[in-house]
Amino acid sequence: MLRLAIQSKGRLNEESTALLREIGIDIDDSRRKFLAQAPNFPIEILYMRDDDIPQVVSAGTAALGIVGLNEVEERGLSVDVVARLGFGGCRISLAVPKGADYDGPKWFAGKRIATSYPKILKKWLDEQGIEARIEIITGSVEIAPAADIADAIFDIVSSGGTLVSNGLVEVEKVFFSEAVLIANKELDAQARGILDEILFRIDSAMVSRRKKYILMNLPTSAVEEATRILPAMRSPTVMPLAAEGWCSMHSVVDEADLWDKIRQLKAIGAEGILVLNIDKIIP
Ligand code: ATP
Ligand code: MG
Repeated sequence: MLRLAIQSKGRLNEESTALLREIGIDIDDSRRKFLAQAPNFPIEILYMRDDDIPQVVSAGTAALGIVGLNEVEERGLSVDVVARLGFGGCRISLAVPKGADYDGPKWFAGKRIATSYPKILKKWLDEQGIEARIEIITGSVEIAPAADIADAIFDIVSSGGTLVSNGLVEVEKVFFSEAVLIANKELDAQARGILDEILFRIDSAMVSRRKKYILMNLPTSAVEEATRILPAMRSPTVMPLAAEGWCSMHSVVDEADLWDKIRQLKAIGAEGILVLNIDKIIP
């Protein structure tokens, strides 16, 4: 039995739970408790504030955790980052009031910067050889300049809307984050085995997210060309149709290339093209 810590509420909670479901780990969170058992996998979910997740994983109270890379970096505790999970993307940036005479990192010398991420900020300032005053604030960092608590802020940005509405301009993007799976550094063999199974399933889920299943009717004479357009995992599946001279072709394509492939396939006579989501891909 392995314990996995996830955020109890907040931005990462829903997608953490969704990812677990996607990899076949059901959790009964109907009566939200501190701990929940997965009925179909040797895992127990521990719900907590995201700030505390690196610590419990580092201490081994939970073998695994799902948390933003920003929290892992800021805590500076020793844990293994074993997978990037592709959600909760954000960056931590420096922002200054609109109209400030910002002319590069040196601008921050001697200035007061409000942040909840003092360690990450200090590291960046040191790299730049800049000395500034770090004002640690735990909530609503973006109001600090207007309240004259600071001259600038170092805070999480995703769309940038909060900055704009507070009259701030993002000037330096310092740290890029997303949700990650972290593991205690001293897992025993049994825990490793469970982690490997989880990683295998996450991998399949992430691969399938970026792929689409495509099927179409095609003149038999165009099969060779269509095979060049759709390389597929081994090669596309081709099945005869009742209509003479036609076949059905099935394949898997990267979502990024989908529209380009469709254009090429239509040009060689493909008809009735269907594009379907893929639940899992096991290579
Ligand atoms: P908790 O109550 O668990 O301490 P919190 O208020 O500290 O929650 P949330 O706002 O729920 O944290 O954010 C959790 C994580 O989501 C962040 O640490 C970050 O990795 C990620 N994230 C993604 N986009 C954003 C955003 N726009 N603002 C804040 N965090 C974001
Ligand atoms: Mg928090």
